[in-house]
Amino acid sequence: MSNIQLVDLLSQYHKIEDEINTAVIDVIRSGQFIGGEQIKNFTNNLENKLGVKHVIPVANGTDALQIALMAADLKPGDEVITPSYTYIATAEVIALLNLTPKFIEVDPQTFTIDVNKLEEVVTEKTKAIIPVHLYGQCANMQPILDFAKKHNLTVIEDTAQAINAEHYFEDGSMKKAGCIGHMGTTSFFPSKNLGAFGDGGAMFTNDDDLAAKIRMIANHGQKVKYQHDIIGCNSRLDTIQAAILDIKLKHLDSYIHARQYAAGYYDAAFQNVDQLTVPFRAKHSNHTFHQYTMVVDTQEHRDGLMKHLNENGVPSNIYYPIPIHKQKGFQQYQVNTDLSLTEDLCSRVISLPMHTELTDEQLDKITNTVINYFKS
Ligand SMILES: *Cc1c(COP(=O)(O)O)cnc(C)c1O
Repeated sequence: MSNIQLVDLLSQYHKIEDEINTAVIDVIRSGQFIGGEQIKNFTNNLENKLGVKHVIPVANGTDALQIALMAADLKPGDEVITPSYTYIATAEVIALLNLTPKFIEVDPQTFTIDVNKLEEVVTEKTKAIIPVHLYGQCANMQPILDFAKKHNLTVIEDTAQAINAEHYFEDGSMKKAGCIGHMGTTSFFPSKNLGAFGDGGAMFTNDDDLAAKIRMIANHGQKVKYQHDIIGCNSRLDTIQAAILDIKLKHLDSYIHARQYAAGYYDAAFQNVDQLTVPFRAKHSNHTFHQYTMVVDTQEHRDGLMKHLNENGVPSNIYYPIPIHKQKGFQQYQVNTDLSLTEDLCSRVISLPMHTELTDEQLDKITNTVINYFKS
């Protein structure tokens, strides 16, 4: 059995090696490294896959969030609601643009925005909300959309971890993650569910005016070359990454299935382990398992389990050990709501190896190592 890895990108590459190599060499031989046919093809194919009108490629998922906030026309001091239980990028871009993050508690089962707390954090300065579809499952969007409409907020979905996840509405309709609010953002960081061989990102919108504005912002604020009508930035997906992503997009469904298979294997193995709570499956979303994250009964057991796994050749990780409102760099922002659940979860969660190449033999070893810890 090969070594168990938290994320195994190399084995995944080997299965499509010839196709990828040809595509990369084609770009190099074309001499066009920025823009070009591969960018257009990938963008069109992703639009079709997600059922969204506009996909705008950018340099990474953090830029995507920043450009979305720039496109939302906010003024310094305006407030943006976001969970504290997320990757730093979500809140970082808010702070960077001199906006104020308003942290909100998460739901204990889905780790996404607790929709019952929305009215607690909103003020007349609140202008936008960034739900994060954490670990591969959608936040509960209907109550968020209703709330945003009531308070006239721009909805920016952070879909870095949940590309192609399905959100189900009560009327039976379905929309893909990131294509529900005004704008969606994603990341093609190599370990994400659709990962490039370097950095990359994209933005989604169904709004033609927003799409035009996003394209301008990402291109130095210009529509016509050397005419800079607004202040923008430089954020592009490069052509080699687009060529690679276009190939991997064809495999995205099977990649997600492989993740769901591993998650099902874990679930079944742990059903009688009382100390563990396995990932919840919400009614409003499927789960694309960017991470398989469990909650352990105590912090002592979580830390002990991590050590035990490490000693037995099973990698694991904590997403995220410190919530953003507890980070040193974010102490100037006031918290006016209870975030004790966020803090509690950060002290008790653990994520197991999750990628597309886990074999039954590896899954068996991982699950047995976990179970053995709680037996001893
Ligand atoms: C990865 C990630 C980002 C940032 O994406 P980059 O491409 O690394 O900039 C933003 N938000 C979340 C939730 C992420 O997981």
